[in-house]
Order: sequence, then C-alpha cells, then structure tokens
Amino acid sequence: MELPALLGGTPVRKDKIFYGRQWVTEEDIEAVREVLEGTYITCGPTVSEAEKVLEEYTGAKHAVLVNSGTSALHCACIAAGIGEGDEVITTPLTFAASANCALYCGARPVFADVDPETYNIDPESIRAHITPRTKAVIAVDFTGQVVKVKEIRAICDEFGLVFIEDAAHSIGSAYEGVKVGNLADMTCFSFHPVKTVTSGEGGAILTNSDEYYEKLVLAHTHGITHDEELMEDDPHEGPWYYEQISLGYNYRMTDIQAALLISQMKKIDRFVERRKEIVARYDEAFADVPGIIVQKNIPESDTSRHLYIIRLDLSKLRCTRREFFDAMSAENVQCQIHYVPVYWFPYYRHLGYEKGLCPNAEKIYEGIMSIPLYPKMTEMDVEDTVHAVKKLAEFYKK
Ligand SMILES: *Cc1c(COP(=O)(O)O)cnc(C)c1O
Repeated sequence: MELPALLGGTPVRKDKIFYGRQWVTEEDIEAVREVLEGTYITCGPTVSEAEKVLEEYTGAKHAVLVNSGTSALHCACIAAGIGEGDEVITTPLTFAASANCALYCGARPVFADVDPETYNIDPESIRAHITPRTKAVIAVDFTGQVVKVKEIRAICDEFGLVFIEDAAHSIGSAYEGVKVGNLADMTCFSFHPVKTVTSGEGGAILTNSDEYYEKLVLAHTHGITHDEELMEDDPHEGPWYYEQISLGYNYRMTDIQAALLISQMKKIDRFVERRKEIVARYDEAFADVPGIIVQKNIPESDTSRHLYIIRLDLSKLRCTRREFFDAMSAENVQCQIHYVPVYWFPYYRHLGYEKGLCPNAEKIYEGIMSIPLYPKMTEMDVEDTVHAVKKLAEFYKK
C-alpha cells in the first residue's frame, strides 16, 4: 500500500494543482487589447455586444451585464421588489452572496434544506418555509446541476413568489433541453475566474420579462434613465438631460471585461465538453471506492459541472475530513470545501440564526471536498487526482 505524502510517502504529483482556474489564451488577450486601444473602455458598445452573445447563447430575451455575480443577485432582488420585512428562501449550501443579496434589500434570508444525495435545494423544504412574508426563492444550481425547476416553478406560481436562479455554477447546463438563463424569472451568472467562463470579475442577469429588464437596467446604473418615456419631468430640458427615477448602484461592467467575456464565450462549448469528460471519468473512477460518496446526478439536468465534490463516508475511514484534506494537499492536489453552511458564519449567528436549521446540509458539509475540475486540466492532472483520492481512500480504509 502506498504511504500518503503527509506521512512521509512520495507525493502523487511534483507540482501543485488547484480545484479550479481560468483558461485565458492569446485570443482573449488580443480581444482585450483591441478594446484598450479603442475609444471606449467602459460604457461602450462591447458591453451591449456581450449582452447579445449571452442572449443568443441562452435563448433568453434580455441580458444585463454587471460587475459581479453578487451584483447580479442584488439587482435581481431589487427588480423583484424585495424590501424591508420580506423573506427570501435560499439554500445554506452556497456562497454567502446567495443569501447576502436579500440582506442588502432589508429582507431576511430563510434557509431551506437540501436533498441528501444531489445537495440541491429541496422543493418540499421550500414549501415548508413559506410564510405570508415570503417574496422570492433564490435557488442555486449547486455545482452546476440544475435545481428542480418544475417543482419550484409550481411552488412559486402557487404562492406568487419570484423565482430567481443563482446560476453562478451552471452556465452551459440545461434542464429538459432548455438552457439555463431561460428557466427562472431571473437567472444570475458569475464570471469570476473559477467559474466556467470569466471576465476577471463580472456577472449577468438573464430574463424574459420586459418589466424586470427595465428595473434591472435602472438598478445597475444609479436608477438613471435616458429613456424619455420613463421620465417624470420635461425630457426636452436639453440634450444633456437625464433623470434619476429610482435608487440604483454603479454595478456596470467595463468594455475591457466584456471583450474578455465575448472571447471566452466563443470557447464555452469546448469548456463544457471538457468539464463533462472529466466528470464522467471521476464518476466512473469513484463509483465503487469504499469511503467515497459521489454526488448523485440529476437526470433532468444536462450538466456542465462547475465543481466536482467527493463526500467522505467518515464511518468507513480512519481519518477526519481535515486529515484527508491535508493529505490531498500533501499529494499536491489542492482541494477546497464548498461550502460552510451560510448561517454558520458569525455574521449570521449574530443575526440570530442557529446551528441545526438544515440537518441535511450540515451533515453533507462534514464530509465534502471539491477536487480539481477545470477545462485546462491535462489527462495527467485528471489521473493524478484520481490516483490521489484512491490512494488515500485505500490507506485510510477501516
Ligand atoms: C461565485 C458565486 C456567486 C458570486 O459571484 P461573484 O461573481 O464572485 O460575485 C454567487 N453565488 C454562487 C453560488 C457563486 O458560486
């Protein structure tokens, strides 16, 4: 049996790999250079062009580009009319932004539990948490697998809730043949470098609703409009004239970032294919490894996986999750944990949230670990990762 590097054995790899990273090429750099040498580096035509690219790719009617996935979620909450005293239902197994966006609006995030096998928000738990104050559901396509759209849509229709999809992980995925971006009332993407395509920092909201679109546009640029039809006072004051008609923010993306995004979107199909290949290899490699639980695939979801999570069955291993994690690092395979349940953070604790709210999510958190998954991985990187997981699972087997 191979000795873990942590205990003095030879590491599986010489150089370290990380759980995720961007893939930026010469073409991307050239696209950015062109914008930098042009007239507009922000508020120019490249942003509108990138919005068109996203509309065409997803099939959604409108896209609004913003400067982060977090801003996208905040804008969606504003457009949904979420405010003081409202409740928004989301999952605890997500990045903090999925819940923080409700707090930005003075609303209270309410955490519904997740499915124990897919780790996605459980529609029955959403239903159980609805009160007269509930205004929206922010469902996260965790790791890229699309949430149970049909069930959530039905609940939202029954109770008059806005369905916001946090699709930071799932650009490129589809649900029963319909692309993400075209499923919920509003869909939020992130273009952070670990996500499927990147603009450095960036995000977007996709919607088929003209009404939400109008509000999203105002929210991301100060609540200022140049549209005469929306103005309250005399639009003919002069050619300089515009009006602020609501309170918005400066959440605009630059043309520099938009150029990078357009260039990356040209490669998204290849990125998605490569992610799928790696996931298929991992699924097969870990299917029968004692101590390792593989995330269950959702049949309705044609998934572009953002994260690959292995879950340790600690009852079958002679180690803690921390030991396994450190042992993976020593093999030079740097993992990450996605995520600490949001309401466990001190900020949420101080708001009155207590441990135990979502038992499935808390239980899942104890054993999970994201292993490397990104399109730029070589076959060797993938096989080294498989080797490291199997080596440690074998060594620590009870
Ligand atoms: C990355 C991420 C966000 C936030 O996106 P940023 O672009 O980093 O602001 C929101 N929700 C989830 C699930 C994410 O993974």
